[in-house]
Amino acid sequence: MLKYGPVSSHFDFDSTGKRRGFIDLNHSDDRHAFSLIRLPVGIISGKPGPTLLITAGNHGDEYEGQVICNRIMQDISPEHLTGRIILLPALNLPAVRARTRVSPLDNGNMNRSFPGHPDNGPTAAIAGFVNQHLIPMADVILDFHSGGTATKYIDCGYLCWGADDHLNQANLILADAFGADFTMLQNIDGTGGDFDTAAYQQATRFLSCELGGMGSLSPTSVATGLSGVYGILNYLGMYTLNATSFPPKETRLIDVGNDMSHITSAHDGLASWDIALGQTVKTGDPLATIYHSHNVGEILAEIHSPQDGIVAVQRRNPLVEAGDHLFMICRQIDRSTHC
Ligand SMILES: [Zn+2]
Repeated sequence: MLKYGPVSSHFDFDSTGKRRGFIDLNHSDDRHAFSLIRLPVGIISGKPGPTLLITAGNHGDEYEGQVICNRIMQDISPEHLTGRIILLPALNLPAVRARTRVSPLDNGNMNRSFPGHPDNGPTAAIAGFVNQHLIPMADVILDFHSGGTATKYIDCGYLCWGADDHLNQANLILADAFGADFTMLQNIDGTGGDFDTAAYQQATRFLSCELGGMGSLSPTSVATGLSGVYGILNYLGMYTLNATSFPPKETRLIDVGNDMSHITSAHDGLASWDIALGQTVKTGDPLATIYHSHNVGEILAEIHSPQDGIVAVQRRNPLVEAGDHLFMICRQIDRSTHC
C-alpha cells in the first residue's frame, strides 16, 4: 500500500493491461464521517517502456483535461502501447465535485500546495502523495489546466524554466511534441507551490498546458489537448500507430514572467471588449471600454494595451469590479535565446 498522511492507495500501479482504481483520501466531516473520498485512477500498461503520468482536475473547474483523460483511457489499447500511462482525471476531486477552482474542504489550491504536507489539510495531503509516490513513478508528466470559470486562455503549452538547462531543453522538446502554436514560459522561483516546480525539483520532465476555460468545454481545445498527448506518446516511442498525424511543431514561446502585463479594471462597471482572445496588439491599442452600471452611456475608462503582445488570457464575465482581472498580454520571446 502507498501512503502519505491521510492519503493512501491499494491500487497496483505495476499491473499490466488496462486497470481502474482509486487513491483514497480519509477526511472526516459532516458529509463524510468515516467515508473515503476516492480519487479515480486509470492505468494502461503495455510492453516495458517509459511511464507518462497525465493529470487533470488540479483545479476543479477546468474540464478539458478531465475529458482528455477519459478519452485516452477509452482509446488506447495496451497491446499497442510501449510503457505505461497513468491517468488521474480528478486530482483534486473535492474541487471537481464542487465545480470550483479550490477544494471546498479546506479552500486548498492544489497548484499552490506542493510539495505537500501530511497535516495541513486534504489538498496539501493529496499534493504530498503525488510528490512522494507518483512523481517518482513518472518519466514524463503532463498536467492539464484551463482558464477555469473566471477566464479563458489561448490553447497553449505551459513551461517552467529553471537552473537545469538540460532539463529545460528536454521540456522544450516536450512542448514541441505537444504541438500547440504557443507555449507560455515562466521562470521557476521555487516558491509557488505548483506541481511544475515539484517535478522540476525531482528532475522529472514536465509539461503543463492551458486549454480554453470559461467553466465550459471547448471541442477545439479538447482536440488540441488530445493531439498533444498523442504527439508526446509518439515522441516517447510509446504509441506510434498514428505518428504521422501528430508531427512535432516548433512552438512559439510567450513570456508569462517579466515581459507581460496583467490588465485590471480601476472601476466598477460593465466592460465592452474591444479585442478578442488570441489577437495581436500594439502598445496603445484599445482593449476594453468600461461603462457606468447605472448612467447609461457614461464611459468610466477606456483601457489600452501597455505593450505589444498577444491577448493570452481574457476574463469571462463583463460585469467588473475595481481590481478585477481583464486580460493578460504576453510578448513573444525570441526562441533562439532559449535553445
Ligand atoms: Zn488550473
